[in-house]
Amino acid sequence: MLDEQDVTELLQLRGKDQEELFAQARAKRLEAFGSEVVVRGVTEITNQCRVNCEFCPMRRDNTRENSDFRLQSELLIDTAASVKASGINVVFFQAGEIPQTTRVVGEAIPGIRRLYDDNVEILLNLGNKRRSEYEYLREQGATSYILKFETSDPRMNEQMRHETLESRLKCLQDLLDLGYRVGTGSIVGLPGQDVASVARDLLFARDLGVHMCSVAPFIPAPNTPLANHPAGDVELALNAIAVSRLLGPEWLVPAVSALSKRAGEGQYRGLMAGANVITVNFTPDEQRDRYLIYGRDRFVVKRDYASRMIARTGLKPRGSVFLEPTTV
Ligand code: SF4
Repeated sequence: MLDEQDVTELLQLRGKDQEELFAQARAKRLEAFGSEVVVRGVTEITNQCRVNCEFCPMRRDNTRENSDFRLQSELLIDTAASVKASGINVVFFQAGEIPQTTRVVGEAIPGIRRLYDDNVEILLNLGNKRRSEYEYLREQGATSYILKFETSDPRMNEQMRHETLESRLKCLQDLLDLGYRVGTGSIVGLPGQDVASVARDLLFARDLGVHMCSVAPFIPAPNTPLANHPAGDVELALNAIAVSRLLGPEWLVPAVSALSKRAGEGQYRGLMAGANVITVNFTPDEQRDRYLIYGRDRFVVKRDYASRMIARTGLKPRGSVFLEPTTV
């Protein structure tokens, strides 16, 4: 079993050794998933947030300057219909952390399930909530939930998020207890982080017993305390993706859009490093520019781009792995 020293060394491989690491990760993916990449359709439902993460332009301190929006349940069902029309059966809702999303999403889920005759994965990323809220969303028909710990270093976590790591871990445990398929993940390139710390994040994720894990390079965003901090190293993030595949061969590991924003076709390289998920954006145009996840000029993945990129890797798109196998 890989330990911190092994992972730290793997993360630093470059050149030919790095290519070998990627090839090993692809072989593990092939064993676990065949030649398929899961395609998700995300809708961002609000840019309001009560948390004040140092790296995020939607942080609480920016609420007044940001032009805020919050989609209502009917619009969520409409966007899910567009996701379905694109042949995607993972309907993903993502939002800043505010209590109101529980009701808005909860009321939309049954209608979306009807739209799909129940052959749909409802994936949520709505932040920390009370256990009773997770329970309600599960009862409404949610399948899966992503809650990233960002960094497993408790002190760094509190400095970056102004919340305790413990509170996030309690939520992750609640989600696992309630039968969600759970995703987590970390950021590469935070201030004060070294390669060993990135290695510990990956091992920490392995020990959580989750089903999905992501790694994204840090992107400095304007109007945040970290606006002038250098961006995360894409090569390190790619190696972290490959190591994630070795640590959790059965994990869903996304090729996140932050890779493309940082390095041209970084998402393609993410897939070549062992990732097996691409997320297509379905947020209505009017709101999308206000969801400032990496600042205003973030890279938005459209259906055609995702299809082209998957085809280039020689892989095939597929639907949810948490339902009966279906091809998109
Ligand atoms: S990263 Fe998420 S929780 Fe943190 S401020 Fe941004 S939207 Fe809120």
